[in-house]
Order: sequence, then C-alpha cells, then structure tokens
Amino acid sequence: MQQILPNLYTFSGLLVGRVYLIDDGGELTIIDAGLASAGQKILQQLAAANYQPSQVKRIIITHAHPDHIGSLKALAEATGAQVIASAEEAEVIEGRTLGKLPDPATLPAIYRMIPMKPSPFPPTPVGRIVQEGEVIDVFGGLRVVATPGHAPGQIALYQPEKKLIITGDTLMHMLGLRLPMVMATPDMPQAKQSIRKLCDMDIEIVLFGHGEPIMSGGREQIRAFARSRGIL
Ligand SMILES: [Zn+2]
Repeated sequence: MQQILPNLYTFSGLLVGRVYLIDDGGELTIIDAGLASAGQKILQQLAAANYQPSQVKRIIITHAHPDHIGSLKALAEATGAQVIASAEEAEVIEGRTLGKLPDPATLPAIYRMIPMKPSPFPPTPVGRIVQEGEVIDVFGGLRVVATPGHAPGQIALYQPEKKLIITGDTLMHMLGLRLPMVMATPDMPQAKQSIRKLCDMDIEIVLFGHGEPIMSGGREQIRAFARSRGIL
C-alpha cells in the first residue's frame, strides 16, 4: 500500500486497475475493487497496515468493468461494507444485465480481431445508489460527477477543497494522458464529452483507474490533452 496524501492510499501489486483507500479516522472507504485476483492482496495489505476488515464501511465503484469490480463480491463479503454505485452500474453489479461493450462494427478493423465479450460476475448487492451532484460523506465530502461514455453510468469523485478528482476510466494516464480504451468504450463521443466536463473543474490532483496520479496542475494537463484531441 502506498500513501498518496495523508489518509489516502493506493494498493500495490494489483496488475491492472487501481484501488484506493481513504481513512476517515479509522473508518475506511475503498474505491473500486480491481481484478478478481486483487481481493486477497487488498485484504493482506489492510492487515499489514493493522486494519480490521470490519473497518471498511463502504466500497464505491466508479464503473462495473472486470478490472474494477472483479474482487467486489469477495471484498464486500469479507468486510461487510456497503457498496455504492450509480443506478446504471448497479444493474451490472447486481447481475441484472451484462456490461455494455462497443458494437464491433463501429470499431477500427484492428480491434475486431480480438472480440471482447461481456462476462457475468457474481452478483453483489448495491446498498446505495448515487447520482450527479450527490455528496458522499467521505474525505471531507466526495461529490459525484457523472462521466458516462466508457460505461453508461460511470462516475468520478471530486473533493473540492483538495481540488482532487478520482476519475475511474474517464481518462487514463499511461505514457501520458489517454482516452479510455477503445475496445471497452461503448460511446466514445459521450466519453469525450465527459473529459470536456473535467476541463471546467478546479482540479489539481488527479487519481486514475489506470496509471500514476497527477499531483499538481491537473486541470491544465487535462485541458492540454483535450485540446490535442479536438475535445476542447
Ligand atoms: Zn479500467
């Protein structure tokens, strides 16, 4: 587990997809749940930091893709935490529908060679549905920002005093800023509009679902990226 800021950490060695931990005076919140293989590593790292599983009170899911909810059921069961997600993503998390993938006909030929299939997950009950503008009482208040496109109900989480945003896969930070993965983004025009939305927010720190955090100047970097892609 690595510290990013006081009371904010990211788990180590999860291969794909970042999972964050917030400690509000011993009451813990986990953001996203990584691949199925991440659950054991997360629980081990919590134990190594002298936390009890029962201290995890909530797990907030940015979007219901395999690399973000893979270990959700195991983690929810091991901790008893409440799962929080948007209504659209809750449909997938609770097993009523499969995750949405792009229509292969709309993809460039190279992406059609490896067809992606939505896979079912062990359904997990969602205890709280959140929507745009709602504030979750964590880390001084995390405001829900709807950033659909990569997933229909994707959310980002914004902390205004710290000028910090947890983006999910609204955009990625791997060898520079990037659009979300084409193969896993059913509505790229909408995904770009969601990036456009971040350009107007007062952001310094950006925590991604994939890649290293940006610790200062986040808004300017996002704006420069958006301009380079014709989004801004
Ligand atoms: Zn992802």
